[in-house]
Amino acid sequence: MRDPLEILRTTFGFSGFRGVQADVVDRVLAGQHTLAVMPTGAGKSLTYQLPSQLLEGTCLVISPLIALMHDQLRAAEAVGIRAATLTSVDSNRDETIERFRGGALDLLYVAPERASGEGFRTLLSQAPLALFAIDEAHCVSEWGHDFRPDYRLLRPLLDRFPDVPRLALTATADAHTRADICEQLGIPRDGMIVAGFDRPNIRYAISPRDQTTRQIADLMADQPGPGIVYAQTRAATEKLAEALGRTGRPTRAYHAGLDPAVRARNQADFVASEDMVICATVAFGMGIDKPDVRFVAHAGLPKSIEAYYQETGRAGRDGDPAVAHLFWGADDFARARQRIAEVEPARQPGERTRLTALAALVETAGCRRAILLRHFGEDPPEACGNCDNCLNAPAAVDATVVAQKYLSAVFRTGQMFGAGYVEAVLTGQSSERSLMNGHETLSVWNIAEDEEAALIKPVGRALLLRDALRANAHGGLEFGPGARGLLKGGETLRLVVPPKRERRRRGGGNA
Ligand code: ADP
Ligand code: ZN
Repeated sequence: MRDPLEILRTTFGFSGFRGVQADVVDRVLAGQHTLAVMPTGAGKSLTYQLPSQLLEGTCLVISPLIALMHDQLRAAEAVGIRAATLTSVDSNRDETIERFRGGALDLLYVAPERASGEGFRTLLSQAPLALFAIDEAHCVSEWGHDFRPDYRLLRPLLDRFPDVPRLALTATADAHTRADICEQLGIPRDGMIVAGFDRPNIRYAISPRDQTTRQIADLMADQPGPGIVYAQTRAATEKLAEALGRTGRPTRAYHAGLDPAVRARNQADFVASEDMVICATVAFGMGIDKPDVRFVAHAGLPKSIEAYYQETGRAGRDGDPAVAHLFWGADDFARARQRIAEVEPARQPGERTRLTALAALVETAGCRRAILLRHFGEDPPEACGNCDNCLNAPAAVDATVVAQKYLSAVFRTGQMFGAGYVEAVLTGQSSERSLMNGHETLSVWNIAEDEEAALIKPVGRALLLRDALRANAHGGLEFGPGARGLLKGGETLRLVVPPKRERRRRGGGNA
C-alpha cells in the first residue's frame, strides 16, 4: 500500500494530518468500524477521501443533503479524486452506474433513502466496496438533534456487506447520542474517536437580555472586526441590522426570506469586509469560509448546546482572539418549552434534556467552557481563564426566600398577572389596578425587604428558566412543575449576580 502521508501531500497538498485525522485514517485502513466525532472544520472529509485513494474498490458516502453532496463532489474532483453523486437530480445516473461497475469510482455519494432499495443493494454487490462513510451520522439517533428516519434504513444495507468497514462521522453528538450511533450502526464502543472540541481563542460570555440593541452595540464597540449577530426571526434580523447600523459600522441582514440576489450580495459583502456586522438567522454561516470573524452574538437562546457550539464556532477560525456573547431572556425558555410541547411525544424527553443542558450553561456561576466541553464528553479543567465567569467571578446569593415570596405573590393574585405587576405587588407600588383588584390588602403586598428588591427581577427570570413559573398566552404568570419544590420541598434557589457592568459613555459615535 502506498504511504498515506505521501498521498496527503501529493493529492491533497497538506503537509500533515490535523488532530485525530491520522488515528481515524489508521483505523479505516485497518478495516475497523469507526465513529469519528470531530468539530466542524476539523477535516472530516479527508478521513474517507484519503483512504479512498488507497483501498481497493469504491467508497460509498452517505450524506443527507444533495446540495452539500454536490459541494463535496466539486471539492473531491478538484484534487483529482474520481467521484460521482447518485441522486434524483442527477441526469447522468446511467453513466455513474457504469463507472461504478467498471471500478472507475473512488467515491460514490448517495442519500440515505436510496440505501433501502433492493435494486441499489444489488448494484453495490456488482463491484468491490472499499468503505461505507456515513456523514452526519447523528441523524441515525433519535437522541440527536436532527433525527432522520431514512438513516435507519442503512443498517440492513451495512449488514449485507459485513466485511466492508464503516466510518460514521459527526460534528455534534453528546455522549448519549454517540453511544446510540454506535449501537444503531453496529460500531463497537471502543471504535469511537473523539477530537478535542476546545476553541481556546474564543471567549464565551452569557448575560441576561435587557436592552438587546444597546448590549450588542457595546459588544461591537469592543470588537472592531467582522461579526455575526444571530437573531431568532427574520424581522428581528432586519430591525437589528438597522439599529446597529446607527453605530456607524456597516451592517447587513441575512435570512431566507430575502430576495436571493440581495442575500447573495449581503453575504459576499460580509465575506469581503473587515468590519461588517451581519444580522442573520441561523441559516447563515453554513459553508461560509470567513476565518476572521471577531465576534458572534446571540440575541436569543440557540436551539441546543450543539447549535450554540456550532454557531459560536464561526468566530475566530484564524486562531486570533474572538468573543461569543449570548444574550438570553426568560421568554426564550418559555417559548422553547412551548415548542417542545408541540413535538411528537416520543421526542419530548430528548428535547427537554437539551433545554436543561442549555439552562445549566446559562445559569452557571462556574466556567462556561468547562460545561461545554463536558457536554462533548471531555474532562476539562474547572476553570479556563477565558470566559466571563472565569475572568470576573460572579457572586452567588441564596435567593430562596425571595423566590418563595415571588411565587406566593403569583399565587395570591390568581396566577394571571405579568412579571411587572407581580413586582409591583412585592414592592408595594400602588396603582389604580392594584387598588381595584384589592391586592393591596394581601399578605404579599410590599413583602420584599429593601435589600431584596434588586433580586426580584433576576429571581423572576430564574423561576421561568427552571419552569417554576410559566407565562400563559397573555403574558400572565402561572405555576409550572418546578414551583412546588421551592415552596414546599426544601429546594433552594441560588442566584448568580453578575459583576456590575461598567457604565459606558453613550452617544460618543462609533468605536
Ligand atoms: P469538516 O467536514 O470536518 O467540517 P472539512 O472536511 O470540510 O471539515 O475540512 C475543513 C477544511 O480543512 C477544508 O478546507 C480542508 O481542506 C482543510 N483540511 C482538512 N484536513 C487538513 C489538513 N490535514 N491540513 C490542512 N488543512 C486541512
Ligand atoms: Zn472559563
